[in-house]
Amino acid sequence: MLEIKDLRVDLEEEEKSILKGVDLTIEPGTVHAIMGPNGSGKSTLSYVLSGKDGYEVTGGAATLDGEDLLDLEPEERAAAGLFLAFQYPVEIPGVGNMTFLRTAVNAQRKARGEEELSAGDFLKEVRAKAKTLKIDADMLKRPVNVGFSGGEKKRNEILQMAMLEPKMCILDETDSGLDVDAMKLVSEGVNALRSEGRAFLVITHYQRLLDHIKPDVVHIMADGKIIKSGGPELALEVENNGYADILAEVA
Ligand code: ADP
Ligand code: MG
Ligand code: MG
Repeated sequence: MLEIKDLRVDLEEEEKSILKGVDLTIEPGTVHAIMGPNGSGKSTLSYVLSGKDGYEVTGGAATLDGEDLLDLEPEERAAAGLFLAFQYPVEIPGVGNMTFLRTAVNAQRKARGEEELSAGDFLKEVRAKAKTLKIDADMLKRPVNVGFSGGEKKRNEILQMAMLEPKMCILDETDSGLDVDAMKLVSEGVNALRSEGRAFLVITHYQRLLDHIKPDVVHIMADGKIIKSGGPELALEVENNGYADILAEVA
């Protein structure tokens, strides 16, 4: 599904190499986690995949179902099925959550050459999904993220993901200081949305998050590269021993 080959990325503003040859293959239906010390390039990887400005790809490739991601505009990447959960969800005063979701869903359908959902069909779908995710109907009417608690923002993010039905979901939770409840929300949301045709890349500092999400593959990233990959036991190893042993072993 997602195939990253020898991806190399510099900062645009200054001569600084951040990603130094990242290789990563994610199969449909799987959950991959990336852990790693601060500053190793985890967030940069998710930003570059989503098409954020400020980075220069100097080498390598990234494809989603064979389609060259790096060649697409951010909206086109979303239409192709990529979803990036934002670490800091934006508040949009004056725009109702429901309106926002409907606009996003229809923009994506349009980009895919599909017909817009009727107001009735949209309403039916959003209510059903909100219910599955235990999201209060009241939250759908409020302005996007305005005055939402941390937990509500997380729920909303999962709802956006559920409505957009992406193939490849990237969640970067590294610096967001998730408390235990928010962690539970995120993991329940991810688990509810796991399916054969969908894959997840979860970037996290917290081994505890992976107790709930249960990744198929865990990768360790350091200094702009994935230096080790393994099963869930790798996350436990990090929890128990930190990164020092792995870094030493690879060096
Ligand atoms: P991680 O998410 O693993 O903590 P980041 O991808 O946030 O790592 O950062 C990787 C490195 O790139 C760090 O050294 C960070 O300081 C640097 N970096 C990333 N983005 C920028 C930027 N816009 N300006 C300056 N330095 C940046
Ligand atoms: Mg960081
Ligand atoms: Mg980060």
